[in-house]
Amino acid sequence: METVESLKQLRRAIEGMTKPVGLVPTMGFLHKGHLSLVERARRECASVVVSIFVNPTQFGPTEDLESYPRDTPRDLALLKDAGADLVWLPADDEMYSEGFQTWVTVDDVTQPLEGARRPGHFRGVTTIVAKLFNGVQPDRAYFGQKDAQQAVVIGQMARDLNYPIEVIVCPIIREADGLAMSSRNTYLDPQQRKAATVLHRSLEQVKASYEGGTHNAEALRQLVRQTINAEPLADLQYVSIAHPLKLEELEEVDKDALISMAVFVGKTRLIDNYLLRDGVWYTGQKSA
Ligand code: AMP
Repeated sequence: METVESLKQLRRAIEGMTKPVGLVPTMGFLHKGHLSLVERARRECASVVVSIFVNPTQFGPTEDLESYPRDTPRDLALLKDAGADLVWLPADDEMYSEGFQTWVTVDDVTQPLEGARRPGHFRGVTTIVAKLFNGVQPDRAYFGQKDAQQAVVIGQMARDLNYPIEVIVCPIIREADGLAMSSRNTYLDPQQRKAATVLHRSLEQVKASYEGGTHNAEALRQLVRQTINAEPLADLQYVSIAHPLKLEELEEVDKDALISMAVFVGKTRLIDNYLLRDGVWYTGQKSA
């Protein structure tokens, strides 16, 4: 496994790679969710590139950029085991040089949900992902369903800008008790960690209620509100039941819906979702 930092080094390494090339963009502090993306890329691509970059422009001024967990030596050991061929650790000053002023923005699908609560977040995401795509020029790029809106936004960007890249969305990997894996879970103390299962529990209730015949979206949202409000350590920021590609709120849930939420547990902001596509529920996988 090779590690590069500069764009010059990256280009040299990419030139020698066998196609198809798969890219897995990450912000590091890797867990089994990230590694599931790398493993999928390993199965489907001749060459696997992973980027690790804590992208400052996708964090709001009051968010956790400074405290975001980092452990590059550990990440590199995990990636070597997972079979990555190349790890790109972009240098800050090459990604955002002095006087930087060119941004990639996506309109409608960045407006609701995360976009409404994290102003500027998606502008940072689409800009850095475009730069990662330009640097690596992969044939396929792997993203997690965990960040469902991000996956929609990147798919839209790739189509709109004619990137010849297939965007592949992989299932949410969960802890044994259902909590979606996240680098931010490390912020939780033991009591909060226990309380954090409420996101997954409320999604399970929505699924059960839907399967029991409740298809009214507001009734299903209300179920989530009640469950989260009953957990004293959890504070619901939003719950949404929306069309899975347009991200517009639904009145009735038929065969396609994205049920998503953001919840504060203490100061830690957690997100989770279940996806209903063509009548099939995509709820993620519990890690062994
Ligand atoms: P991050 O390092 O948080 O930017 O995540 C990098 C990629 O890993 C994104 O595409 C995420 O959606 C994905 N990811 C994060 N957590 C999980 C998870 N629990 N299961 C699957 N994919 C995940």
